[in-house]
Amino acid sequence: MPVTARSAANTNSPAPAATPMMAQYWSLKDKAGDCLLFYRMGDFFELFFDDAKAAAATLDIALTSRGEHDGQPVAMCGVPVHAAESYLARLIRAGHRVAIAEQIETPAEAKARGGSKALVARDIVRFVTAGTLTEESLLEGRSANRLAALAQIGSDGDVAIAAADISTGRFEVVAVRSEQVDAELARLAPSELLLSESAEELPISSARQIVRRPPADFSSTSAQKRLETFFGVQTLDGFGQFGRGEIAAMGALVAYLDHVGTGGPTFLQPPLRHLASGRMAIDAATRESLELVRTMAGARDGSLLGTIDRTVTAAGARLLADDLASPLTDKDAILDRLDLVDGLARDSLWRGELRAALRALPDAGRALGRLVAGRGGPRDLAQLRDALGGARLLRERLARRPDLPPLLMRLLPGLDGHGTLVDELSRALIETPPVDAAQGGYVAEGYDHALDALRETARDGRKAIAALEADYRDRTGIASLKIRHNGVLGYHVEVPAKHADALMAPESGFTHRQTLAGVVRFNSADLHEAASRVTQAGVHAIAAEAAHLELLTDAAIARREAIAASCDVLARIDVAAALADHAMSHNWCRPDLADTPCLDVTGGRHPVVEAALAKSGERFVPNDVSLSTSDRLWLVTGPNMGGKSTFLRQNALIVVLAQAGGFVPAASAKLGLVDRLFSRVGASDNLARGRSTFMVEMVETAAILAQATPQSFVILDEVGRGTSTYDGLALAWSVVEAVHEVNKCRCLFATHYHELTRLAETLGALSLHHVRAREWQGDLVLLHELAEGPADRSYGLAVARLAGVPAGVVKRAEAVLAKLEAGREKTGGLAAGLDDLPLFAATLAEAPAAAKDALREALAGIDPDALAPREALDTLYALKRLIADES
Ligand code: ATP
Repeated sequence: MPVTARSAANTNSPAPAATPMMAQYWSLKDKAGDCLLFYRMGDFFELFFDDAKAAAATLDIALTSRGEHDGQPVAMCGVPVHAAESYLARLIRAGHRVAIAEQIETPAEAKARGGSKALVARDIVRFVTAGTLTEESLLEGRSANRLAALAQIGSDGDVAIAAADISTGRFEVVAVRSEQVDAELARLAPSELLLSESAEELPISSARQIVRRPPADFSSTSAQKRLETFFGVQTLDGFGQFGRGEIAAMGALVAYLDHVGTGGPTFLQPPLRHLASGRMAIDAATRESLELVRTMAGARDGSLLGTIDRTVTAAGARLLADDLASPLTDKDAILDRLDLVDGLARDSLWRGELRAALRALPDAGRALGRLVAGRGGPRDLAQLRDALGGARLLRERLARRPDLPPLLMRLLPGLDGHGTLVDELSRALIETPPVDAAQGGYVAEGYDHALDALRETARDGRKAIAALEADYRDRTGIASLKIRHNGVLGYHVEVPAKHADALMAPESGFTHRQTLAGVVRFNSADLHEAASRVTQAGVHAIAAEAAHLELLTDAAIARREAIAASCDVLARIDVAAALADHAMSHNWCRPDLADTPCLDVTGGRHPVVEAALAKSGERFVPNDVSLSTSDRLWLVTGPNMGGKSTFLRQNALIVVLAQAGGFVPAASAKLGLVDRLFSRVGASDNLARGRSTFMVEMVETAAILAQATPQSFVILDEVGRGTSTYDGLALAWSVVEAVHEVNKCRCLFATHYHELTRLAETLGALSLHHVRAREWQGDLVLLHELAEGPADRSYGLAVARLAGVPAGVVKRAEAVLAKLEAGREKTGGLAAGLDDLPLFAATLAEAPAAAKDALREALAGIDPDALAPREALDTLYALKRLIADES
């Protein structure tokens, strides 16, 4: 199990003589569980005890203390309420979850309730957790943010995972076998994963944070009811047929949303059943090593996604990430996407127009998510107006084109139907409304005449106040007299202290309000009257605007599913246009899909390595590959740094890109659909999982051998490198044989074990290839070019010299190598004897049979009745030895 980021739990317990405030704190802390408790006190959220220590360390803010508890000072720190969001963002990023305890009554209400000493009541109003964010400032715009729940049903290893991005409402559920859990979670990459407290341990490496929830949340019976209530339906059948596990997982997710929002609304679209069968299976290790959407270090930059992403909308970027993480296996669906990319690739003018139109559209999906969650404001409504209005124009323009690709024809109607809402929002809102509704001013002039009249009154009042100021200056002769406004005094007259005496006289008509250092403030009857007009009109205007905001928000929410569907359409168009744009500027080609398991690529390139080389003005050397049923396993040898790994990966990436429905970095490409993709590249320790380099390598290799089918594509890089030479060679040898004889998949196998090239003599569908290098005037020249046949030598020492290993060490290595090679010649070499090995399949068939026969013979020779007890025991030992010897 990976690191489970949990806040430091408060170990201290309440003292019997706790003050009322502390007693209230402890009861809230109890509810907060392992979340940090933000305890509202006036303008601050305060944290105490271990929470304070954890937060102060993460936020780098001062840790103070207040009072005593159990004879110890109580650790404390706080953050101002107005700036809480940025502190929350940092705590969440650091893996904490936070419970927000607000004051739920005013001090006056508390006094009326319980006398002058009564403590203001507080309660937890929300839990802020990584998987349940909707705030723009807390989210990464171009990445999905998923909350997932995993339910195990029965003991037969079936698991269901529900995943929701509540910032956009996307909700999906998938049923998998327990051994596929990690792969599925790697695809979803949830920022928070819910597991039942009673769930068995599963090998999960792909969730950033695991939260254990009560088993009752995962019960499928109560989950069914919870889901029906959540979606306001009589039955879930309208959404599709779900298994018990799927219902349990979805129910647990909804229960958690209820818990963190303490009952507030959340936006979820009806659940989509993700069918693993229509998708290429890619396990967590393969995903990591291919760096599809994130590099091994966790960054987007430098991944395949980061390199090719030309989407112009945040929703497009999120969809492209999904597409690359989950390539298709359905030929028609892939062709549909390819046709769309193709159409856009051919017409750069059209593509440019579309992209310009899309670029101007705000992220309506997330704006809608905030509105539904009750955290939206006027700016979010304006974003819907602009996005949906833009979508309408786009649709009209597209409808005029004669030759629309079929996928686009099918998608276009999904942009319809928002006319009334867009028109209403356009009339109602100003061009750029504020994010926050509190100050008003967002409803457009002319939308509501009563509101206009209130504003007119306020304007007149303000004019009257300005006139008063001029009049007072004239009357008093004090040129520096000003009428000012603040939250405490409202409108007031302010003069420098030296002029104050003139206004203090009762007959002056001014009433003294406040004396500060340097200035004195007054009120007057005229000012009071004008100010009241302004204030009252302002208050009424803000209330009128708030009422409009509510109605408009309701109107938008009522169309939430249609809006979400339109956002999906826009994102799909953006992704296709982006892929087309990238393909055209990088000379990529449309892949052909074949019905046989082949992989024919000419001039293939690795997009990420090519981009990195281009930065330093270097050229990438394109390479071909041609795998078919009769030549399905390529053994690639050649010097270190020669480009073997790059060649392997580039072909895996070409497969991913093609089946995601995009063009590929090659001059031409043809492939038979790949059902599962495996990559074992390089060796890396996973100490967090308690596995050594070699163990990781073997676990991953075992998974490939168990799962790869004749439709799969496997890249294996230096299998066996992590152990001793003989063990490594022996394993690599038998793995190549098994891949060839049993899995029969397409495979590129890179190795430094030159001895493996002998396998070409016995394995008919294996061929030898090498990356070319030359030694020229003592220097090694790596050509990065693939050629047929085995490499002539390994050039390891030349690479070491290139890397700057001291000349003395390289010289010594040369002497050692000469000795080793001389020894090998004398004894017949490391690989001597390998030629005599029977074929792998024969070994598989023969080995158990041989053991069985010897055992049978020995057993047949035993007469149990003739054996003394001691002899029986000895015979048993002898039989056991026999099996041990055979195996
Ligand atoms: P090792 O055996 O040490 O793992 P390797 O043969 O797998 O090495 P790579 O890691 O694939 O070699 O490549 C090493 C470097 O060579 C890459 O980082 C890249 O800079 C460059 N390179 C690889 N392939 C090409 C290519 N086709 N064109 C240009 N440069 C390349």
